[in-house]
Amino acid sequence: MSKQVKTTCPYCGVGCGVLAELDESGRVTIVGDPEHPSNHGRLCSKGAALADTISYDGRLLYPEINGETENWSNATNHVAMKLKDTIAQYGADSVAFYVSGQLLTEDYYVANKLMKGFIGSNNIDTNSRLCMSSAVAGYKRAFGSDSVPCAYEDLERAKLVILAGSNAAWCHPVLFQRIKQAKLNNPDLFIVVIDPRQTASCTIADMHLAIAPGTDNILFNGLLVYLNDHDEVNQQFIKQCTNGLDKAINAAQKHAASVEVVSGLCGLANSMVSDFYRLFSRTERVVTVFSQGINQWSYGTDRVNAIINCHLITGRIGRPGMGPFSFTGQPNAMGGREVGGLSNQLAAHMAIENETHRELVQEFWQSPLISDKQGLKAVELFEAVHDGRIKILWIIATNPAVSMPNADFVREALSKCEFLIVSDCMRNTDTTQYADVLLPSQTWGERDGTVTNSERRISRQRQFLPIPGQAKPDWKILAQVAQNMGFNEGFNYSDSLAIFKEHAALSGYKNNGSRDFDISYFEKISAEDFWSIKPVQWPVTAQHSDGTTRLFSDGQFFTENKRANFIPVLNHQPANSCCDEFPLVLNSGRIRDQWHTMTRTGKSATLSAHTVEPYVEIHFDDAKTGSIEDGELVMVTSQWGTIVVRAVITQTQRLGSVFIPMHWNDQFSSKSYCGALINPNVDPISGQPEFKHTPVSITRYQPSWYGFLLSRRKLTVHNSSYWAATRGRGLWRYEIAGQDKPEDWAACARSLLCQHADQVEWVEYFDSAATRYRGARIENGHLESCIFIGPDFNLPERDWLSNLFTKDKLSDVERHSVLTGKPARGQKDAGKIICACFNVGVNSIIDAINNNNIKTVDEIGKLLKAGSNCGSCVPELSSLLNK
Ligand code: SF4
Repeated sequence: MSKQVKTTCPYCGVGCGVLAELDESGRVTIVGDPEHPSNHGRLCSKGAALADTISYDGRLLYPEINGETENWSNATNHVAMKLKDTIAQYGADSVAFYVSGQLLTEDYYVANKLMKGFIGSNNIDTNSRLCMSSAVAGYKRAFGSDSVPCAYEDLERAKLVILAGSNAAWCHPVLFQRIKQAKLNNPDLFIVVIDPRQTASCTIADMHLAIAPGTDNILFNGLLVYLNDHDEVNQQFIKQCTNGLDKAINAAQKHAASVEVVSGLCGLANSMVSDFYRLFSRTERVVTVFSQGINQWSYGTDRVNAIINCHLITGRIGRPGMGPFSFTGQPNAMGGREVGGLSNQLAAHMAIENETHRELVQEFWQSPLISDKQGLKAVELFEAVHDGRIKILWIIATNPAVSMPNADFVREALSKCEFLIVSDCMRNTDTTQYADVLLPSQTWGERDGTVTNSERRISRQRQFLPIPGQAKPDWKILAQVAQNMGFNEGFNYSDSLAIFKEHAALSGYKNNGSRDFDISYFEKISAEDFWSIKPVQWPVTAQHSDGTTRLFSDGQFFTENKRANFIPVLNHQPANSCCDEFPLVLNSGRIRDQWHTMTRTGKSATLSAHTVEPYVEIHFDDAKTGSIEDGELVMVTSQWGTIVVRAVITQTQRLGSVFIPMHWNDQFSSKSYCGALINPNVDPISGQPEFKHTPVSITRYQPSWYGFLLSRRKLTVHNSSYWAATRGRGLWRYEIAGQDKPEDWAACARSLLCQHADQVEWVEYFDSAATRYRGARIENGHLESCIFIGPDFNLPERDWLSNLFTKDKLSDVERHSVLTGKPARGQKDAGKIICACFNVGVNSIIDAINNNNIKTVDEIGKLLKAGSNCGSCVPELSSLLNK
């Protein structure tokens, strides 16, 4: 009997509730959970396509040592002995863990306990360092604790929502939909987007402040000065609940004394800045959402505090519909913060530098020692691996060979590492290739535990799939290694519930309201209640057993004198400035339908249809300066590396800035991982790298030929100096280009597409003068594969050809049209896919708009279904309507 299980989406920090069902035939159905308070049944395209990503294809199923399959006992013993010997010889700081916001809280808790409590080093850091550690540092400086004060319902109760450095439409789509719906319900809700780029989030914006990159601290400092100068302040709150306003004002006045100065530095019109300031000052219920566009700078922490300062001066915090609200990137970035997954934090929001906290945790864990020295933060950690200070690195559930800045240096570090352990659910990632030991982890749908989303809401992830091979939960692998190292007592867990209860008990241990993170209500939770626990926002205590919607309602903070701190924010410049050699600013980030390094979402044809290839967005005038044409391949170079990607020329990009998505890896392209370009400079407080500002140059790649390949089978592409692969419906698609021309195109193409080329039906066309080759292999009446080569990138559109692969048999007309690459007259080409859920192409949408005089997205939905499911494509539909 199939059974529907309530669980949580494993992608972004929205933390949407999911109903998952596995039926007897093995089919998985995923829908949004209407009872989950974060999403009320909504899912974005990624959540809706989760079923596509559940396959054992490419999974790591057995432990391996040096490429040979091993049993668990030998593998964990080998790891334990290596750790013990190395620590004995070089000390505890010679080993490190690099973990992930993908882990469940229980996995995170055990990893942190092993490293900080029992190994005795704080060298455990997480990939959450890359996305929200500046938010953590900013909150801690202001509030004395890493406390996100708001709840999602504040977005609906606000009168002004500011999206600062947040493309929520693509990165937190369900929250974007909630904001959009709130605006429909309340047309007075005003929305401001602050972003150098005109992103999809701008489709609902009443005001878009396209600021010069890296000037948001100036904009918010100017706002602080404006509020102070115009007496738009909450004197009572300032007096009773805050410290240090004067110093913050003095610092802000140094570079943001007037609207005119701010406008000049931010590259905005005076009127826009003064309109924004007036709007903020006159609207009591303001939520300022901030995300990676604020955090990912060499002074990201200051940017966070510049925002918080404006909420403190107006007292707009702790009440419905207001507050500075960090949207976290990952599904359990918040859970990682709770257990101390960052190298400069202790468990349960306690501080390494606080002796009382160290003693308290040590006493609770009954652990041998806790170091008073902060551990290495991500960038420093890989530097220490590179120079040999770290001898053993254990990477769990993350792919730093792609995602870290200066990724080629990180790859070098991994290749030099004396002993590298990688726990992952996938066998072949850019990182696993360097591992000495591979440990197969259970993944979403197989594991059981908790995650915490951006609004402090703890939800359950539950198992509903069978466990493949010998995959184990990460907490179990860590506990086994810990026990093999001799730490029996501390790691004798029977299940994730036992860990959750211990985590809850630690949060309440000697707390008495002195620390923000307290879920002590759960320390004795039964197995039955743990199974059925409802999503709840911490703190959850005996007094607040239903959780806590928002923090600081009483104006009391977690600083020494219980008052929030204003932080003076200076005008910092990015670590590296543009110059003649690198004249453009690279900004990196997410796209709508991919997640992180594509190991999961790259499996879905639905999700891959939206963006098929790595690309760089360039402003029209910058492209003109470089004589770059839309659609050609370009080399993007920084001081740290070079990649090759497709040029997309657009007016939505700010002049002088370019954008590259962060997702592509070596499994999906020849060399397009954006991390290779990114500068490794970090925020001095948070250690978060500056992903939003790397000076780059762009030049034409100029291969001697371009091409593409569509095939029902996965191929190994050769003869190409550039390739990018993506899954389509029933096919693999390869974009290719090369410097060397083969002597015989037909032989080359046939060898690529087929081992027994002579026995199958081929149709071919070759114009040797123009170096234009087209070939198709037809088998049993259906199109098996095709290849198109030409001297430039002006090749036929791929969408119509791709659709032919969904057919069991080509019609005569289709067969005759294959080599032209376009439908015969009278036949339709749907065009590039916009709606991933219903596979609706741009041409179909434009035709529908024109032929039916359509004026709204709803009308498109009624006619074509596009935009009527997850809603992720709604911003693009709106933009097509506007055009
Ligand atoms: Fe998952 Fe999308 Fe919800 Fe994020 S918004 S949790 S990716 S369904």
